[in-house]
Amino acid sequence: VVVAGVSDPRFDRQVRFADLGAAGQARLQAASALVVGCGALGGSIAMQLTRSGIGRLTLVDRDVVELSNLPRQVLFHEEHLGAPKALCARDELARIGGPTKLEAHAEHLDADNLAQLARGVDIVLDGTDNLATRYLVNDYCVEKNVPWVYGGVVGAAGLVMPITPGASACLRCVFPEPPPAGALPTCDTAGVILPAVAAIASLQCAAALRILATPRERWAELEPRLIEVDVWNLEARSIRVSRDPECRCCGAREFEFLDAPAEGLAISLCGRNTVQVRPAAGRQPTDLPALAERLRASVRDLALQEGLLVFAAEGKRFTVFRDGRALIEGLDDAVRARALYDRFLGS
Ligand SMILES: [Zn+2]
Repeated sequence: VVVAGVSDPRFDRQVRFADLGAAGQARLQAASALVVGCGALGGSIAMQLTRSGIGRLTLVDRDVVELSNLPRQVLFHEEHLGAPKALCARDELARIGGPTKLEAHAEHLDADNLAQLARGVDIVLDGTDNLATRYLVNDYCVEKNVPWVYGGVVGAAGLVMPITPGASACLRCVFPEPPPAGALPTCDTAGVILPAVAAIASLQCAAALRILATPRERWAELEPRLIEVDVWNLEARSIRVSRDPECRCCGAREFEFLDAPAEGLAISLCGRNTVQVRPAAGRQPTDLPALAERLRASVRDLALQEGLLVFAAEGKRFTVFRDGRALIEGLDDAVRARALYDRFLGS
C-alpha cells in the first residue's frame, strides 16, 4: 500500500518516535476508526486520532451539546450549545486539517446500525457513557474480529482495556454480565473532572495507535492488560488479564447483545410528552434504595415509594421501576430520553 504524505513534515516528530516510525505512520494513515460517542472521552480520542493522522474517522453520537459538557468535552464551545455533538465534533476536527477523512452520524448506536457504521473499520474506540453499548460493541468486535478499546471514567478515576479478539481477553472475560441498571455511579451522579477524562482518553488512544501500527500476526505480543488510573490520588495499576475459556462471548461465541432486538428500548408514549425506557434484556432487578442514595445529591424531589423511585432532573420527571424500566416525563424524543436514562441510571 502506497500512502501519500508519510514524509509530510506535519508528522515528523511522530515518525521520529521509533516504536511508531515511518512504517507505523503509514499503517495509521491507511487505517480507519469508529469512535462511539463524541462527548468527554470520545471527543478527546477523536482529537488525538485526527491530529495523529489516522486515515478515516467515523463519529457517532446521539446527544446535543449542553453547558455542563464544556468543562471536559474539549471539542465544544458555547456557540455549539443545543447542536448535535457528532456534527459539531466533525466541524471542529476539520479545522485541524491533515489527511483524515471525517464522517459524522448524529444517531443512537444500536444493534441495527452498528454493522453499517463499523463496516470496514480497523478499530473501534469506546467513548460512550453506557454499558449496554459497550457489551454490544464487544459482541460485534469479537464476532467480526475487529480490535476495540474499552474506556470508562467517573470522578477522578477510570479503566482502560484494549481488546484484540483472538489474542486478548474480551470485555465479558473480565466483566461477564452488565450490572443492574442504576448499580454503578455515573458522571451525572458522582461527577467527573477533565484530567481524569484526558488521562483515560490518552491511554485509549495510545493503545489504538499501537494496535494499528502492529501487524495483526503480531498482536499476541501486545500483552493484554486492564489499566486503572486515579488522577486525584495519583495511583495507577496495570493488571494482566487472560481469556476466560468459559466466556459466553469469545469462548462460546454467543452474541446475545448483538442478537437482542434494538427496537422498544425507548418508546415515546403518544400524546403524553413521556418516553418509556427499558434496560437491556436480562438485567438483574434494580436496588431502588441504593439508587436513591446515589442520586440524592444530584437530583430534586427524590421520593422512594413501594416498588418505585421518583425524582426530577434536567427539567424532566423520572419514575423508575424495580425492573429498571423508567418513565421520563417532559419530552417526546426517544433518543434524548435514552441518553438521560443512561446518564442518571447508568445502563
Ligand atoms: Zn471473552
